[in-house]
Amino acid sequence: MSKKILWIVIALAVLFSIVIAAMAPTSQGDASRATAQIAVVDDAWRAALPRDPVAATEAYMSRISPAAKARSDAYFEGGYWLQLLDLIVGLAAALLLLRTRALASTRDWIAKKVRPMWLIDTFTAMVYSVLVSLITFPVAAYEGYYREHLYGLSNLSAIDWFVENIMMLSISTVAMGIAVGLLYIALRRTSRNWWIWGAGIGVVLIGVMMLLAPTYIDPLFNTYKPITEERIKTPVMAMMRANGVPIDNLYQFDASKQSNRVSANVSGIFGSAAVRMNDNLLNRSTVSEIKAVLGHELGHYTMNHIYKAWMEVAIVLVIGFAFVKWSLDWSIAKWGVEFGIKDHADIAGFPLFVALFSVFMFIATPINNTLIRTQETEADMFGLNASAEPLGFAEAMLKLTEYRKSDPGHVEEFIFFDHPSPKKRIYAAMRWRAEQLKP
Ligand SMILES: [Zn+2]
Repeated sequence: MSKKILWIVIALAVLFSIVIAAMAPTSQGDASRATAQIAVVDDAWRAALPRDPVAATEAYMSRISPAAKARSDAYFEGGYWLQLLDLIVGLAAALLLLRTRALASTRDWIAKKVRPMWLIDTFTAMVYSVLVSLITFPVAAYEGYYREHLYGLSNLSAIDWFVENIMMLSISTVAMGIAVGLLYIALRRTSRNWWIWGAGIGVVLIGVMMLLAPTYIDPLFNTYKPITEERIKTPVMAMMRANGVPIDNLYQFDASKQSNRVSANVSGIFGSAAVRMNDNLLNRSTVSEIKAVLGHELGHYTMNHIYKAWMEVAIVLVIGFAFVKWSLDWSIAKWGVEFGIKDHADIAGFPLFVALFSVFMFIATPINNTLIRTQETEADMFGLNASAEPLGFAEAMLKLTEYRKSDPGHVEEFIFFDHPSPKKRIYAAMRWRAEQLKP
């Protein structure tokens, strides 16, 4: 009976997501989008820009039309509620899997085919990954496809979006199988302090993912090719060399197939460095904007932000596992028999494990955002010094207001922003210009 409920929910979820995707607006140039734009300016406007940082910042902000501001505010504020929605949907999915004992019966079924415990855990976790994706598919279709098209922020067709999702699901299912297999070895072999071992394994795996993703996973979704235009290559490589970063090539990738968002990154380990710019940045920006954006990315690289972020993740993870250890023991004592979970090291309890961890991560949102935002602020300062392009930087930040709220309140920024607000970033650039550049 309970198994039937699971399959009915999954069938409905898949059907529902197809309906959501089919209903998404497809027109790219609708009327509301045309009025919701940022005013284009010329050299005369830049020459007349006041030196006073406050006045100059206001001049930039006034280029965002009221319609554009209303649109990006609505998009970004809606994202706050989506975080809550994701938590609730995730908890509901966990409850469904626990009540139907889906993983307990998957575990028993796999145990008849294979012997080693770690292999049983690995396969069960892979089944979990697919089941959860199917249950939460309507929410993913709404957030990732329908809503992005509603705001004119996605260039993907429904088919392309679906194919990307299948690819991501395949990668995450394999990754989850390996990660959970390793995690439960630690959970079984250690006793009371399993949460420290679990966090340790989590830290190592996250580090491996962070270092490998740019080289091995990103190219599965986009095509990378060298940038040959000398007008871009020469100034950018000069800036990189001036900051001690030895690169011999810049790459571009075709992000425009996904969206119009501008982005870039500088990554690499053991002294290697690769600069990757998306084609939106190349096509929509001047050389001074490109230099300003890459100056910021250079800052992340030079200040070893990836390694520092890794250590920060480690601290958050240890606290998270401590919370899970405490709440999992309590939950299993209360509902273990009902859900068919023997103990904390039983893979049947994995949905409970994930649910408790997601509650912790939700509560930790302001802390995680502040850790990232602090690095972003540092990279902004580094980038301004390295590129000496405050106007280019301000222009690039203005483009971000297409999908990021431009001027949030202080508490709002603290809780929800993983970058400083666009207005703060423009002000920082205008202050740098007033104090560092000769009039
Ligand atoms: Zn950054």
